[in-house]
Amino acid sequence: MQQRSKQEYHVSLIVQKFGGSSVADAESIKRVAKRIVETRKAGNEVVVAVSAMGDTTDELLDLAGQVAPIPAPREMDMLLSAGERISMALLAMAIESLGHDARSFTGSQAGMITDATHGSARIVDVTPVRLREALDEGAIVIVAGFQGFNRDTKDITTLGRGGSDTTAVALAAALKADVCEIYTDVDGIFSADPRLVPKAHKIDRITSEEMLELAANGAKVLYIRAVEYARRHGVTLHVRSSFNNNEGTIVYNPTDAEPFGPATVAGSQAQAARAADAGQEGSEGAVEEPMIAGVATDLSEAKITVVGVPDIPGKAAQIFTIVAKTGANIDMIVQNVSAASTGLTDISFTLPKSEGQLVLTALRAEQSDVGFTALQYDDQIGKLALVGAGMRTNAGVSAKLFTALFEAGINIEMISTSEIRISVVTRADTINDALRVVHTAFGLDAAEEAVVHAGTGR
Ligand code: ASP
Ligand code: MG
Repeated sequence: MQQRSKQEYHVSLIVQKFGGSSVADAESIKRVAKRIVETRKAGNEVVVAVSAMGDTTDELLDLAGQVAPIPAPREMDMLLSAGERISMALLAMAIESLGHDARSFTGSQAGMITDATHGSARIVDVTPVRLREALDEGAIVIVAGFQGFNRDTKDITTLGRGGSDTTAVALAAALKADVCEIYTDVDGIFSADPRLVPKAHKIDRITSEEMLELAANGAKVLYIRAVEYARRHGVTLHVRSSFNNNEGTIVYNPTDAEPFGPATVAGSQAQAARAADAGQEGSEGAVEEPMIAGVATDLSEAKITVVGVPDIPGKAAQIFTIVAKTGANIDMIVQNVSAASTGLTDISFTLPKSEGQLVLTALRAEQSDVGFTALQYDDQIGKLALVGAGMRTNAGVSAKLFTALFEAGINIEMISTSEIRISVVTRADTINDALRVVHTAFGLDAAEEAVVHAGTGR
């Protein structure tokens, strides 16, 4: 790969992120320490972002719940940020004992400046002055993931669950790293969850645009905020296993001048690589066959139908203003053709189950004002999303998707599309079958079954 020859000419800076499952106990920490040292010995500068050990964060959350019904957000962040301080210090010690200089830093020492929102703070600035100094002195730098500091309140914040990915990406951007490696317990990004689709294949290269769609639609390997940050700041990600040395998945922005090859038409390199991966034939196939990155499913959503809405201007605006005020994240919206005899229509939309009751209550309160007949709530839905930059130019993708579902006897309840995604809603209990038939129909099945480690993908 081009990156290698590049490393022969200048010192690379590599950011490595290790998730909780990679540092779950002393043995794992020593293993990770060796891996970091190998990267350093190869002549690279290394900055590591580390998560809390194993299930530490969940255990701390649980403890908090035992001492207070509603723990104060400020104290919650003090508590949770401690998890990452434990792993950073242990990792630095393990590296020192291998004879290399290592220094750990909390989020605030590392210059991770955030807004003041406890529990889901956003990074507003990164000033890694102390990290740069430590690197210049030849040290390996270890940073506690998932945490920052607010300049106004002078308090510690956390970035939300899975926030260490974002820490790593933000450090990579601020330090102008050559690559940000995200180490996890799976081999990379797969064309579908290998626990649900045994013949899912590992994707070699994927555009950040496609990765965002997959992450937004249920793929759990990478957190969406980290992918967004990487895309905005031109950080190339390499998602790979900490349990072997295999190449993982490169997540890149095709419009950036990046170290992994020249910029090309969006997604075409990734598509060519995927065509080869999936055994799809030659260049002719690449033209006729729209290349699909992957398929994701999501069982966390519910559907609300507003029944009998007067079909006059302003009603959709009224309904979604009420919904918006609740702060709920809505996803698909479908409005039916109104019945000529009644002049009434139905409007359905999907949203996270966790926000369902809130939105129902808000709508019910305004029922007479809006003038709808009834509300229906359905939490037995599943959503499937097919994602690929190649579908932008190909009309046959929807036909193929719907045909595959029809042949499997699966009914489609809602459809929505973006430039590079088609999503459908089906009954929840058909979603796994839907996933498998669609994966096969688009030629994504690998020749052999994927090796699934016991891991969680985190
Ligand atoms: N420890 C935090 C969590 O479990 C952050 C992370 O793992 O990225 O959510
Ligand atoms: Mg964790």
